[in-house]
Amino acid sequence: CGIVGVTGNKDAVNILLNGLKKLEYRGYDSAGIYVNDQNGKDYLIKRKGNISHLINAVGPDVKGSTGIGHTRWATNGKVSVENAHPQFSQDNRFYLVHNGVIENYKELKNKYLKGVKFTSQTDTEVVVQLVDKFATTENLSTKQAFFKTLNLLNGSSYSFLLMDREHPDTLFVAKNKSPLLVGVGNDKTGNVVCSDSLAMLNITHDFIALKDGEVVTVKPHSIEIQNLAGDRVERKPFHVDMDA
Ligand code: GLU
Repeated sequence: CGIVGVTGNKDAVNILLNGLKKLEYRGYDSAGIYVNDQNGKDYLIKRKGNISHLINAVGPDVKGSTGIGHTRWATNGKVSVENAHPQFSQDNRFYLVHNGVIENYKELKNKYLKGVKFTSQTDTEVVVQLVDKFATTENLSTKQAFFKTLNLLNGSSYSFLLMDREHPDTLFVAKNKSPLLVGVGNDKTGNVVCSDSLAMLNITHDFIALKDGEVVTVKPHSIEIQNLAGDRVERKPFHVDMDA
């Protein structure tokens, strides 16, 4: 339902939690965050119900400079902690938040993921397990595995934010028929991603609107947009003249 991400800001945990609060008005049944501290430590915290439950579950030890967050409105799989996002791959390498619905997730699961250990009933988990499968068994780069997975989703609706423990400062971003913005920050704030600019107006007022089929690689000091053919795309941000 709602998506937030940040990279290159030591206060990532609070930025994610505040961003999710700003998206509360859209409705949700559960929420979660994943953050990586760039020193080999990472944290996955998910709760059912109000965001205050998630905020209370995040202790002072939870720190990081890159992370993703999600408020879920369940479409596939009941409301539970396991089904809340971020969803992750069986080897705990990849973490994914998703808005939308993957229409053909059962077919994909049967075709490609026999023997894979699943921990949720969501359509989303199939996507993160596919990325992991292609990255590890076909030796593809994360971006190649992500492109390959996106090409299998047959026009489903999605906005995705993907993280890889092997590239802990990078947000891999894609969308189809579901809104997603990259917020352009500076050396102090880092860069952000959100499904609604409202979530990040305290960080930046400059946003790049993504188009269907594009894949964006967001790092603390760079934003690289590619179309499905893999070509680089340049796009200027638009300015949101509104306060948080
Ligand atoms: N289809 C996904 C799920 O049920 C995402 C739902 C959403 O957009 O919040 O987990």
